[in-house]
Amino acid sequence: MKRRDLLKGAAGAAGGVAAATLAAPAIAQDRIEINMVATWGRDFPGLGTGAQRFASRLEAMSDGRMKVNYYAANERVKAFDSFDEVASGNAQMYHAAEYYWKGKHPGFAYFTSVPFGLTYTEMNAWVRFGGGQELWDKLSAEFGLKGLMCGNTGVQMGGWFRKEINSVDDLKGLKMRIPGLGGDVMAKLGASPVSLPGGQIYENLVSGALDATEWVGPWNDEIMKFYEAAKYYYFPGMHEPGAMLAVGTNKKFWDGLSSSDQEIVKAAAATENDMMMSEYNAKNGAALARLVNDHGVEVREFNDDIYDAFGEAADEVFAGVVEHSDLAKEIHESFVVARANIGAWAKLSDQAYVSQRNRVLGL
Ligand code: CA
Repeated sequence: MKRRDLLKGAAGAAGGVAAATLAAPAIAQDRIEINMVATWGRDFPGLGTGAQRFASRLEAMSDGRMKVNYYAANERVKAFDSFDEVASGNAQMYHAAEYYWKGKHPGFAYFTSVPFGLTYTEMNAWVRFGGGQELWDKLSAEFGLKGLMCGNTGVQMGGWFRKEINSVDDLKGLKMRIPGLGGDVMAKLGASPVSLPGGQIYENLVSGALDATEWVGPWNDEIMKFYEAAKYYYFPGMHEPGAMLAVGTNKKFWDGLSSSDQEIVKAAAATENDMMMSEYNAKNGAALARLVNDHGVEVREFNDDIYDAFGEAADEVFAGVVEHSDLAKEIHESFVVARANIGAWAKLSDQAYVSQRNRVLGL
C-alpha cells in the first residue's frame, strides 16, 4: 500500500515534471515577435499615438504573447519605405495611409480616401459590408500583404494657403503638398502637387518651397504651426473626406498566425479604427477655436465654382485610374456603388439631422 502510494506519487511527480518540460517550449514557440514600422513620427498625436496604442493593445490582448517592436518613421526605415519593408518580410507590420502606395497601384488610394470619397461611417460600411475588404485583400495579396482598417481622421480640412482662393485661376501654379488622388485633382487644375511625409512639410512651407499644404485637421495642424506661414485655412477638403489609416501585415506572416491570433489582430485594429476617430472628433473643435482666436487664422470655405471644378477634375482622374488595370476598375466601380447607396442614406440621416440640429441650436 505504502509502496504503491510512493510509486503513484513518484509517477505523479515525474508526470508533472514531464508536463512542465513539454509546456515550456510550447509557450516559447507561441510567442510572436512583430517588428512594426510606421509612417508617423514618434508620439505624433492621433496618427502616431494611435498606431502606438494599437501596438500596445496587441500586446495586452495577447497577454504579452505578441511582442511588438514599434518603429516610428526614420527609426528603422524612412516613412515611405514602410511598404517595401513589410512586403519583403523584413518587418511584419506597418501602420500607414494606404494612399502613400498609389505609385505601386492606384487601387491603394481607395483604402485611405479619394476625392469625393467616403466619410468615416461610409467607409466602414463599404469595407465591412460592401465588398471593400475583399477587394483590398485581392489588391494587397498581389504585393504579399494583408490590410486592415486601423484608424481614421474623419473629414480633413482643405488646407493652408498663403493667399485667398476665390477662383480656379488662383490654384494655377500653386506648389502644394497634397498626396493621393487629391494631388492628381489639383494637378488637373494647374497646381503642382507634391507628396511629403508630415515631418518635412513645415520647413518647406516656411522656406517658400511650398505655397500651400494640406495635412489633417485643426488638432493636428495646430501642432504643425502651419499658421506661421499661411493664414488662410480652407474647408471642406474634397481630397480626404474620411482618411482611413491601415495596418499592413506581411501576408506570409499573417497566414502563419493561428485563427485566434488573427482575430486578436483584427479586434485590436478595429478598436483603434474607432478610438482614433473618437479622439479626432473630441479634439478638433477646441483646436479650431484656438487657431482662430489665438493665432489669427482666417477660416474660409471653398466656393461652389471651385468645388464644381474639383468634381470635374476628380472625374478625369478616376477615368485614368480605371485604365490602369482590371482590379483598379473593379475597386473603383465597387466604390462608386457604395458611395451612391450609402451616400443617399447619409443625406436623409446624418447629414439632414446634423444640419437641422445645428440650425436650431445656432451651431
Ligand atoms: Ca491629409
